[in-house]
Formats: sequence, C-alpha cells, structure tokens
Amino acid sequence: MHTPYSDGEAYHDEIATAASRAGIDAVIVTDHNVHVRGLEGYQHGVLVLVGEEVHNPRRRPQASHCLIYGAEVEMAPYAAHPQNLIRQVSECGGIAYLAHPVEFASGISLENEDFSWKDWPLQGFTGIEIWNVMSEFKARLWNWPAAVFFALFPSLAMRGPFPGALRLWDSLHAEGRRVAAVGNSDAHGTHFGIGALKLTVLPYEYLFRCVNTHLLIEKPLTRDFETDKRLLLNALRVGRGFVGCDMAGDTRGFRFVASNGVDRAEMGDELRRTGMIRYKVTCPRAASIRLLCNGKLMAQASGDSLDFQSLEMGAWRVEVYRRWRGRRIGWIFSNPIYAR
Ligand SMILES: [Zn+2]
Repeated sequence: MHTPYSDGEAYHDEIATAASRAGIDAVIVTDHNVHVRGLEGYQHGVLVLVGEEVHNPRRRPQASHCLIYGAEVEMAPYAAHPQNLIRQVSECGGIAYLAHPVEFASGISLENEDFSWKDWPLQGFTGIEIWNVMSEFKARLWNWPAAVFFALFPSLAMRGPFPGALRLWDSLHAEGRRVAAVGNSDAHGTHFGIGALKLTVLPYEYLFRCVNTHLLIEKPLTRDFETDKRLLLNALRVGRGFVGCDMAGDTRGFRFVASNGVDRAEMGDELRRTGMIRYKVTCPRAASIRLLCNGKLMAQASGDSLDFQSLEMGAWRVEVYRRWRGRRIGWIFSNPIYAR
C-alpha cells in the first residue's frame, strides 16, 4: 500500500485507522522508491511496518516492481539491476517479493500500464505476489462502460489470482525452487472524476476487507513492537501462511498441514519424504478444495476438509474456490509444503 510519500492518498496513521476498522492486525506500507523512516510502530492498535516497492524509473517500457520487507535501508539506488537489488536486500536481512509479476494494461489508458516482472532469470527472491487487487481491477477496465461499472461495483471485479500468475508460481516450483506467495491490496486511495461522477475508487478500508495475507506466527502478538515485527517477518520469510479473499467469507481458520509419520509440516515448511506423506486441509466453511503438486491437480473435494496421501515430491499447495455473489471466486490460496 502507498502513502503521499509516493502515489497514495492517506498517511500511515490514517492507514492504521482504516486497517483497524477492517480488523487487520498488521500492515506493511511500501511506497515507491522511498524507504520512509521513523513511522513504524503500533498505531490505533495496528502494527505498522514500513517496507518499500522498488522499480527502475528509467526502464522502458516500465516493468519489474519489487516489494521489500525488513531491509531497513533505502534500496532504490539498486533499482537499475534487479538481480543486484535482490542480493543487496538479502545482505541487509530483508525479504524480496516480486510485486504483480503478471499484469495487464487497462483498455482505457494511453500509457502502457503493464508492470509485470520482466527481468528473468532471477535468483534469490523469497516469493511473488500472486494476487494484487489493484492489478486485477485495472485489468477489468476494458473500456469506459466497464470502468464505470467496476468503479461502482468493485467487488465484482474480484475473481482470483490471474491464471498466468499461478502458472508462473508453479513453474518456479517445478524447477525445485522455494517460492512463497503473498496477496496484497496495493491500496492507493486514488480519487477519480468521470464527468459529474466523483469517487474514491477502492478506498483503503474497503481494500483491506478484500484480499489479505494471513500469517501463522509462532505465538500470539505480544503488542511489543520489536517482538511482533520479528514474528511477522519470520513468517513472511518462509511463507508460513496463505492468501485469503476475506470479502467472500472470513478465511481465518484455514489450515494445511502434512505429516510423514515422524515430522509434521505447516505451510512454508519442507518435509522429508521417507514414505507416504499425508496432507490435510481444513477450511472454515464448505467450499471446493483443490490440492496441487507443482501445479498438477492431485486431489479435490467439496466440503470443509480434504485428506490425501502421496509419494509425489514437489511443492504441494491448496486452492479453495467458493460461490459468492453469483459466481465462482478464488477464496484461499495456501503457501506450499515442500515434499523433498
Ligand atoms: Zn507496483
């Protein structure tokens, strides 16, 4: 999400207020090419962290935005060379996620607004953003009537991660890599005027109720800033959690675990395959559950749980879909458990 330090409308404490109203525990503000210092802390009961979204402003065409969490220093000077940027981030103990790696320009702007990740090959990043609500919204603005329609009914623009983003994720897993996922609002709070129609499209609080990254942390938040920051970044570093579209139903309570009979694994863990591995999925309510290994569908179920055993090695992950407002929507996307 963004503030007036780059191209957003609300400052950190207003964002904290919006997050608090939406029931969010923590936010990470990532302004474009500026690491804003001195604004982290608990505000209005919300843990506010500051990261950065780095891109090379001289690149033509524009592309390749990188989300940086926990690096603590300005990373924009390294923007020109993405691989070097990623190396610098990890040397500072930070975490890099590729923002909206698969994007589509809207049909209503003359500028090319496809900010996909274009700098491949790339090593050493923690993960990718599989679902970005702003990107998805933008992609649905095929023409002006569609833009007006979705500006008035933004929830109808939400369907799920782009299939291309999921294919990219799976193809990276198929190379044997660990690649985690986050889902983000990318909130800007931008005001638009279309003739007499003036509105704020996708305000912060609204977006905070759409798609969120849910993290499983080692213990409950303590309200001590430094402790809680570490708990959060530790979970982000390994992808211990899932992406949930909470607007389509509260996703809290979703679990995906595996066991090889000796050890037990959570999302983000690796598990040694000594024999059959048993995978268990639990959903907070009945839905359509798909279990995949390196992108290949291995099992599916309708209901609130799935139980499956396999010898197959690879990155196992779960997708859950449900019906909401008359259509099928992507509801939960787990991080992988890696069977090695
Ligand atoms: Zn971006």
